[in-house]
Amino acid sequence: MRVIDGHNDALLRAWEQDRTLTEAGAGAIDLPAAAAGELAAGLFAVFAPSPDGWQDAVVERDGGWETPAIAELPWSEAAPAAAAIAARGFAFARDARVRLVEDAGDLDDCLAPGGPLGLVLHVEGAEAIGPDLAELELWYAAGLRSLGPVWSRPNRFAEGVPFKFPSSPDTGGGLTDAGRALVRRCGELGVAVDLSHLNERGFWDVARLEHAPLIASHSCAHALAPSSRNVTDEQIRAIAASGGLVGINFHVAMLRRDGRTDADTPLQAIVEHVRHVADLVGVDHVALGSDFDGATMPRELPTARELPLLVDALRRDGFGEDELARIAHGNWRRVLAACWR
Ligand code: ZN
Repeated sequence: MRVIDGHNDALLRAWEQDRTLTEAGAGAIDLPAAAAGELAAGLFAVFAPSPDGWQDAVVERDGGWETPAIAELPWSEAAPAAAAIAARGFAFARDARVRLVEDAGDLDDCLAPGGPLGLVLHVEGAEAIGPDLAELELWYAAGLRSLGPVWSRPNRFAEGVPFKFPSSPDTGGGLTDAGRALVRRCGELGVAVDLSHLNERGFWDVARLEHAPLIASHSCAHALAPSSRNVTDEQIRAIAASGGLVGINFHVAMLRRDGRTDADTPLQAIVEHVRHVADLVGVDHVALGSDFDGATMPRELPTARELPLLVDALRRDGFGEDELARIAHGNWRRVLAACWR
């Protein structure tokens, strides 16, 4: 079963490790792993990382945990990092077996048997874009087709949702005036806007502005795992009403009911989140958003190579072949095509 995956950090890993993705490496996604796992296309994130340290600053408290607030990343640090990480993607897409996806026709080519691996360029946290949005034009011209205004830190556009368990996603203020302008311009250009990492006010601010289907590219169901990063049933209903989708994240701390970062988490945990969204709003509004190379995967699903095991687990849960095709790739294809029209 061909898969379109809604989120990975393979470009960040390739940049940090100074390597290419064309050959098998230490990461979760490279060309051999994608071919073995039937990964047809993915949203490859351009994410300028915050300085190390915040990961180690997790504060545990009764039955839960949180990271201290993560500081804003200044433009002067974000812009060169984002350019260098994106450059890894453009270099990768020079390979004849890879396609920089710019429209629905490109996605269809990637979905065909033996097609190239599709690279959809996604900006995760728009710190590299200045207040007049001029850089957005440059990114779009280069091939950007999806953008999340924030990662889990504040910037000039919005406040990211902090990592916290258990917690409501309602953690602070919404879009700024610059954030509203950014979302509007993305709509005009045909750049998909990603709601994952926005807090709840930011989510509803985008929902009011956005005419295209709403997307939470790599989030899980808050009703099953009350992480600040997950979407509530009310948010899932709004996403479905817009014709959009939730890409279920494979990060164990967002899947597990206890919020623990424990790789001994069965694939059934992913299946349960898919099932929850499908039962709540229909199978047309749930898809996959692995977070490969950016989070802690279940032990059975360390890389894209093992994706068929997840498809089998979904099949065992009772999803039919037509439903599996929509979850695995059809819903992402429909929603991205609508955003890019
Ligand atoms: Zn993310």
